[in-house]
Amino acid sequence: MAKHVYSFGGGKAEGRADMKALLGGKGANLAEMSTLGIPVPPGFTITTEVCGEYYEQGKVIPDGVAPEVDAAIKVMEDAAGKKFGDPSDPLLVSVRSGAALSMPGMMNTILNLGLSDASVAGLAKKTGNDRFALDGYRRLIDMFGSTAMGVDHEHFEHELSGLKKEKGVKLDTDLSAEDLKELVSRYKAVYKKHVGSDFPQDPKEQLWAAIKAVFGSWYGKKAVEYRRIERISGLKGTAVNVQAMVFGNMGSNSGTGVAFTRDPNTGEDVFYGDYLINAQGEDVVAGIRTPEPISQLHDEMPKVYEELMAIRSKLESHYKEMQDIEFTVQEETLYMLQTRTGKRTGTSAVRIAVEMVKEGLIDEVTAIQRVNPDSLNHLLLPQLDPKAKKDVIATGIAASPGAASGKVVLTAEDAVAHAEKHPNDPIMLVRRETSPEDVAGMHLARGILTATGGKASHAAVVARGWGKPCVVGCDAITIDEKKGQITINGKVVKAGEFLTIDGAAGDVMIGQVSTVAPTISGDFAVLMSWADKARTLKVRTNADTPADSAKAREFGAEGIGLCRTEHMFFEGQRITDMRKMILADDLEGRQKALASLEPYQREDFIGIFEAMEGLPVTIRLLDPPLHEFLPHDEAGQSEVARQLNIPVEKVKHRVEQLHEVNPMLGFRGCRLAIKYPEIADMQVRAIIDAAIAVKKKGKDVLPEIMIPLVGTVEELVILKKRAIAVAEECQKKAGVQVKYQVGTMIEIPRAALVADKIAEEAEFFSFGTNDLTQMTFGFSRDDIAGFMPAYIENKILPVDPFQSIDVNGVGQLIEIGVQRGREGRKAKTGEHLKVGICGEHGGDPDSVAFCHKVGMDYVSCSPFRVPIARLAAAQAALADGKSISRDR
Ligand code: PEP
Ligand code: MG
Repeated sequence: MAKHVYSFGGGKAEGRADMKALLGGKGANLAEMSTLGIPVPPGFTITTEVCGEYYEQGKVIPDGVAPEVDAAIKVMEDAAGKKFGDPSDPLLVSVRSGAALSMPGMMNTILNLGLSDASVAGLAKKTGNDRFALDGYRRLIDMFGSTAMGVDHEHFEHELSGLKKEKGVKLDTDLSAEDLKELVSRYKAVYKKHVGSDFPQDPKEQLWAAIKAVFGSWYGKKAVEYRRIERISGLKGTAVNVQAMVFGNMGSNSGTGVAFTRDPNTGEDVFYGDYLINAQGEDVVAGIRTPEPISQLHDEMPKVYEELMAIRSKLESHYKEMQDIEFTVQEETLYMLQTRTGKRTGTSAVRIAVEMVKEGLIDEVTAIQRVNPDSLNHLLLPQLDPKAKKDVIATGIAASPGAASGKVVLTAEDAVAHAEKHPNDPIMLVRRETSPEDVAGMHLARGILTATGGKASHAAVVARGWGKPCVVGCDAITIDEKKGQITINGKVVKAGEFLTIDGAAGDVMIGQVSTVAPTISGDFAVLMSWADKARTLKVRTNADTPADSAKAREFGAEGIGLCRTEHMFFEGQRITDMRKMILADDLEGRQKALASLEPYQREDFIGIFEAMEGLPVTIRLLDPPLHEFLPHDEAGQSEVARQLNIPVEKVKHRVEQLHEVNPMLGFRGCRLAIKYPEIADMQVRAIIDAAIAVKKKGKDVLPEIMIPLVGTVEELVILKKRAIAVAEECQKKAGVQVKYQVGTMIEIPRAALVADKIAEEAEFFSFGTNDLTQMTFGFSRDDIAGFMPAYIENKILPVDPFQSIDVNGVGQLIEIGVQRGREGRKAKTGEHLKVGICGEHGGDPDSVAFCHKVGMDYVSCSPFRVPIARLAAAQAALADGKSISRDR
């Protein structure tokens, strides 16, 4: 029979760190620490499998669990030297959740469990502290009532504030033991009123209700929401950890804290954290009191500090990884309550990985595997422009780097509502503190600013995990939700007005301050060089200006995988010439307009070729439907008529003519060049002439002409023949030869199916997975917002397929396309067909891993995702076909 319950404590344990799937992260690490001889209060873990079975059996505790729990209680009692439910000296326990992946603050915890009317008196006598015992009891009734029995916490709060008012005191700590006795009886009355029965006096009854409450929280709203955002799926449930209580609130020689073994923000090798004297654990994390920096503990409790430093190095050398720890000091005795891999910013992840290699703790391969590619976003986040004028109005704690400006929003609900109305508006969420209820709003914000809280507060931890700029503990801020405004050092900022934060410095500024793009240097460059050695996939970029090309090259791009030429037709005189071309009555008129556009195109290409000297540049011929270049409103149409000196009716008529029911399936892509070959002629001429001009300057150019939206080989035959004819003519005229290729995009399902035929003509393939996804699913890529969240929520799809390749469906077409394409090309020409991807998926780490697996030659993504793709490609190569688990 499977074992359901695992004991730990007193220098030994039944579990181990590598049993996270079964014991949850918290339980597995408590067991490991215990075995390492680190002081851990004794306890036991009920497995995640029990949680799974509990749900399978219709919320029933499976057979065999209860006797194992009884046995484990006995072991815990022996280790603690106290008995659970002993009226004269009770052993109290905490009951906490702990899933295989960390879900901070997402599930319920109950403390002080085991207290009753009888044992509260025993505890008071034993500790000689009535206040302490009664305060613990009233907290238990509150936590147990609200967590296990569903009583609204507000009802208890109401009694607490009522009593404080009656007694004329401000703080909870001002209440006397007598007052707390009264509070306990009021809490019991609240409990009875809402639950319908008395607060249970039997500690076992309390324990089982608490265990069920932890299981119940697995499907609570907060937990489900968190798993959705973090894309966590496939877990059986949560484990339950029952552990002897230790008290950080037993006076000034007690306390509690959280710390990281290195700085989770910068990665610096310093002990980093906060603690509070005379407090319980939740007080530090909840951000209610602003805690003291851990370095100060050195002065307040030198012995404890020394011990903590020794544990810090023991944990790091054992786990070979940065740890996030929780500890409690009860009357100068230190206990560890948790250790886990610390969440960190991308900046910190990179520095820690590189430094740990230098320290000999890990090797280069481990370092590469350890950094989540998406977290590099952090190092690629904008920083405040050092040249910009900035008036720092207040400074808080730097919690998560990067600079952000946004419109002030005071609640998470307002953030959600604002984003629904104005999806592109940057939001700055300003709160006193955040809690797990706020995650949806926090996710939408560009930056997060809180008035209270420390480095390990909810806001800091969550923001860091997501790579969002965040400043916490900025006590110069007062928030007036009613008035819809905040005051910062006397200055009023209304909701909707701009604030800027610098999450690396902790600075807060009123208004918008300009930002600059970062560069790759130091540890980042080192890690990237290791990644480059490990990967086999090349990484190109999607860029259509010389500036973007140069930036991407700085970030390591090895060429351009997609230059969308339509982006070059939108500015100034170009859009006018483009419109002239579209509105022309005949070929002659179109050619005249195209002739005006040609020099612009040529100059753009020269700039791009120079920026990408020596590297391949794939240029796609015009792709979008022509109506996209014309205004659809009256005023816009009149303006075009005026500029082109033609009647407005003509503009209107042409817009109507170009109107399509399904433009994405309409007159676009290579269909444009089939009907209007002169457009493609002009573009090919501009490409080849530009290449010749650059080559004449002694620079190496490798243009690749790409024909979009091909569905049949016949389309490609016609267009390729024409492109080659134009190119040959250019070269003949100039007396210069350039190396160029003609290839196609695979973005129509049919193209993937007949890839062998198409490859006989194409010198390369580039998968346009945006369109391929759109056409495979039949989802309009521009209209998914209305239903995609419901699809994810209902688990119809695990992720948005426009974000990460749908491996099972679209992926099959890609595999077929690569395989048939390569075979077709080989059979016809004996050549290797070069294959890449240029849809948005090229910058998504999971999709990059898929591209590696199917044997593509390169991925192409936006400039800022190039380093992410480089690292993802390295991880894919190292995984050697196995799936990669990413700590999200
Ligand atoms: C694609 O469809 O994946 C693609 C890269 O082209 P576009 O996004 O421009 O349609
Ligand atoms: Mg496309």
